[in-house]
Amino acid sequence: MLISLIVPCYNEEEAMPLFYREASRVAEQMKTSHGADFEFIFVDDGSRDGTLATARRLHDEDPRVRYVSFSRNFGKEAGIYAGLQAARGDYVATMDADLQDPPALLPDMLDALLTGDYDCAATRRTTREGEPPVRSWFARLFYRIINRMSDTEIVDGARDFRLMSRRMVNAVLEMSEYNRFSKGIFSWVGFKTRWFDYKNVERVAGKTKWNFWSLFQYSIEGIVGFSTAPLVMAALAGVIFCLAAFVGIIFVIVRALLFGDPTSGWPSMVCIMLLCSGVQLFCLGIVGEYLAKTYLEVKHRPVYITRETEADRDARRGNP
Ligand code: UDP
Ligand code: MG
Repeated sequence: MLISLIVPCYNEEEAMPLFYREASRVAEQMKTSHGADFEFIFVDDGSRDGTLATARRLHDEDPRVRYVSFSRNFGKEAGIYAGLQAARGDYVATMDADLQDPPALLPDMLDALLTGDYDCAATRRTTREGEPPVRSWFARLFYRIINRMSDTEIVDGARDFRLMSRRMVNAVLEMSEYNRFSKGIFSWVGFKTRWFDYKNVERVAGKTKWNFWSLFQYSIEGIVGFSTAPLVMAALAGVIFCLAAFVGIIFVIVRALLFGDPTSGWPSMVCIMLLCSGVQLFCLGIVGEYLAKTYLEVKHRPVYITRETEADRDARRGNP
């Protein structure tokens, strides 16, 4: 039985050795308890620091370590996809390099899959300690909105740390879309998932790659990728405004017939015009967002471009 650990890394030279040490410890433990072999796949997402050098060094020291290095930064979702494509394991786990996803949970997760009842063991954090309150508030709001809008369930607090069976990995790989929102993809493919709760852990080294703006874009990505409800809402807004305009017209006509006062009230008319054109632009923006995603999708660009893998390194050094 082979287990692949996929670790997307963007500027993680400090965290990688710590991750490797902890993961090897768990691997050793699981070799005796489950008879499981491991491979570690570090995906260097166009890092600017020594991430690639660290991956090469770890590979030289331990052949279980493999790596894929991108030609530039393609984002964490692309990293996960590349890792899934490279993985050879019967079971595949995706986890962060910063040890916020504790490898110590892996034995329990594997036990859940070995019962045969589940194809996926996923984790969610029960607290958001160590996170700015404003961010937590927006995160909760995002989960409320997306779950209202989308048929695909996106679990609040779910991390990207999960262990999957080969069946499920193959299903995820079949979704070769360009705009990848992993939380949605993992949920969309279905299969039974066993959830593991744990307390939020702070990263061991380095710093987070996300700021408020990138998280906002990520949330739009999720909504546009897994729901068309905003389009329906735009159409609905149009209907409501038409009805309001119809009532207004009747009111104005009746009033003019009864009182003969056709010219008053132009300031209110300006307000109405501004409001209506605002709503129009907003709805056009929603349509544009979907059009943009469609545009990127139909170009069929690759999700990522590889610059180097451990196989290239072995070939250059004359290893088999
Ligand atoms: N990551 C990546 N590409 C990116 C941004 C992040 O591969 O463009 C990786 C990063 O190296 C880490 C994981 O994604 O292993 C999660 O990132 P981070 O810890 O910064 O996110 P947070 O835990 O703060 O949500
Ligand atoms: Mg992190």
